[in-house]
Amino acid sequence: PFEVLIVGGGPAGASSAIYTARKGFRTGIAAERFGGQLHDTLGIENLPGTPYTEGPKLAGQLETHVGEYEIDLMNLATANKLVPAKEKGGLHRLELGNGATLSARSLIISTGARWRNLGVPGEAEYRNKGVAYCPHCDGPLFKGKRIAVIGGGNSGVEAAIDLAKIVGHVTLVEFDSKLRADEVLQAILRSLDNVEIITSGQTTEITGDGSRVNGMVVKDRNSGDERSIELAGVFVQIGLVPNTEWLKDSGLELSRHGEIVIDEEGRTNLPGVFAAGDVTTVPYKQIVVAMGEGSKAGLSAFDYLIRNEPV
Ligand code: FAD
Repeated sequence: PFEVLIVGGGPAGASSAIYTARKGFRTGIAAERFGGQLHDTLGIENLPGTPYTEGPKLAGQLETHVGEYEIDLMNLATANKLVPAKEKGGLHRLELGNGATLSARSLIISTGARWRNLGVPGEAEYRNKGVAYCPHCDGPLFKGKRIAVIGGGNSGVEAAIDLAKIVGHVTLVEFDSKLRADEVLQAILRSLDNVEIITSGQTTEITGDGSRVNGMVVKDRNSGDERSIELAGVFVQIGLVPNTEWLKDSGLELSRHGEIVIDEEGRTNLPGVFAAGDVTTVPYKQIVVAMGEGSKAGLSAFDYLIRNEPV
């Protein structure tokens, strides 16, 4: 069995592995796709110390770094089920999609999250070419330009307020007949003179010139009329979905959004099971945050292992 088994190989999982391997623990990583969301990211400009890099390049560097240690990296390994230890210090079991079962004295779950897609024509085609999901990451790329934010919940309205300071104009589109964000955020949004709010609006298409986004089509859900809007970018803010479906019956505590509930040391409600990164309740889903959280969970696993004898 492993002393530490990490489920997920994004920035959080890779950081955990480096920390626990450096403590001399027998460490494994089971990851569906090592690198995680980094593979979907083009330019990264907010990782301190690295003024510019690209997602796939950073994923390659994490793999090289992990390879410096005796870490058993199992790529293309999808976890299907967690069977937690019956007693403190006991072995946790992880069942994989290929039928294999792994066991470990401690687990760090870092299976990340995925942005909910609109699922309209043009969205996949123009991803990273005007279609964006992360205002903290990509906002500055649209300086002075006209953009849209899809989604009138807290994340959409926060994104619109944030982006309105950088871009030229923001059109916020909400599917429902009213915004769902907190009233105080809505008031700030309404006070901005470079923001237009469209409610009962269904985005039916994101258009482009073959290389970049040039607009979108919004249908008025009351009248059925369609309107084309010229834009340089579309931020989709209709939810971040944690990859926790496989944990449903494990006894691990999840928030109402499906995120793994952790404390300030990355501990879950199950002894010996830790979690880190976008899959957890940690606020602000960012690479530098995921890396920090991953190292923290690694150190917490270390602390657990030295205090609990194997049973
Ligand atoms: P992830 O990167 O999601 O990794 C999760 C890992 O778990 C993957 O290896 C995955 O294959 C694996 N996994 C999932 N389910 C299972 C399972 N059942 N069994 C086994 N393995 C599983 N952040 C920034 O800081 N700067 C940016 O510029 C930036 N740009 C972004 C652009 C885009 C398009 C996207 C989508 C995100 C961007 N982010 C950016 C956010 C950043 O990528 C995430 O915050 C970060 O990757 C989270 O790391 P993580 O390790 O928690 O999860």
